[in-house]
Amino acid sequence: MKNIYLDHAATTPAAEEVIEAMKPFYNEIYANPASSHFPGQKAAAALEDARESVAELIGAKKAEEIVFTAGGTEADNLALKGAAMANSEEGKHIITTAVEHHAVLKSCEYLEKHLGFEITQLGVDQEGFVNPQELKDNIRNDTILISVMAANNEIGTIQPIKELAAVARENNIIFHTDAVQIAGQLKIDVNDMNVDLLSLSAHKFNGPKGIGALFVRKGIELVPQISGGSQERKRRAGTANLTAAVGMGKAAEIVSTNLDKKITKLCSLQDYFIKELFSNFDEIKLNGPREQRLPANVNISFKNLDAESILFNLSLNNIAAAAGSACASGSLSVSHVLKEIGLKKEYAKSAVRFSLGFSNTKEEIDYVVQKLKEIIERLKSLQ
Ligand SMILES: *Cc1c(COP(=O)(O)O)cnc(C)c1O
Repeated sequence: MKNIYLDHAATTPAAEEVIEAMKPFYNEIYANPASSHFPGQKAAAALEDARESVAELIGAKKAEEIVFTAGGTEADNLALKGAAMANSEEGKHIITTAVEHHAVLKSCEYLEKHLGFEITQLGVDQEGFVNPQELKDNIRNDTILISVMAANNEIGTIQPIKELAAVARENNIIFHTDAVQIAGQLKIDVNDMNVDLLSLSAHKFNGPKGIGALFVRKGIELVPQISGGSQERKRRAGTANLTAAVGMGKAAEIVSTNLDKKITKLCSLQDYFIKELFSNFDEIKLNGPREQRLPANVNISFKNLDAESILFNLSLNNIAAAAGSACASGSLSVSHVLKEIGLKKEYAKSAVRFSLGFSNTKEEIDYVVQKLKEIIERLKSLQ
């Protein structure tokens, strides 16, 4: 059996059409989009087309609401730091959750440490959900920004963003969501969700690495986090990564085509995988919810075993998955997300995240389950 890649939440391969679309932009259409000469104008037009495609993916009305960044991490940094700095005269309190990606958590930490903001981290329930009432209860007069991820990258919990954003709207507070995990897995509509800021990363939906975007609703002020020229309507300095932006635009077009069908396929593969796991293994636990779960995410604990050993053995069989816990070079420390959902140690240290992609098949899942049976049996016999 060839390599089986089940780590799409970490990154996805660039689609063939994406690579093709990018090619001319290395050495044919290479002018700086900021240059006013003819080749520059051609480059600028391509950049604006890409922006249009990204806007369409998320239902943004105006392409100028899209700011290209160097990825999801930078989009989160710009959203958090940019909005906090631009609104600090109104207040210095930010609400987020304890299960965010580190790009959000560390941006908050930075604002707290260096700029005197106060951060409230909302907890989550055992399935990873934030409670809208709890958000309401934590709003203060000086709350200026709320940031809640659209779906969790480790356990797949889809947050009730519409409800949470409504709470923010009622209180006239800016709402940001890290939507990096949902592109290609859920339909995104920034106006239906009613969010002000939304982060995306191209390499999570078959686009190139090193490019992302932040949706910035018209009227929302941001202090740029990279100083320099007036690119991206003065919100992100630096010569645009035109090639990558074109790739992201193409990936956005491809992923929105027949999205419902793709989602249905992912969901049925996920169902199949989960059923197979539960019919073949005892003492396992699905982390995260069964409903309101990302269609690609299967995070499963094998009681009392060690995630690292399981992953190592899977890898020996050419199967790539990830730890539900963050492995810091050999030492397994339980991730902040698994801690927050209150997972007991015997389950937390054995959590393995499989994340599906559009190209995975049932046959691959069968093979993985069969290999897992051998691996788990052997690991148990060694205990
Ligand atoms: C991958 C990811 C990011 C970071 O995106 P990069 O483009 O890799 O910087 C941010 N948030 C979430 C939820 C992610 O899954």
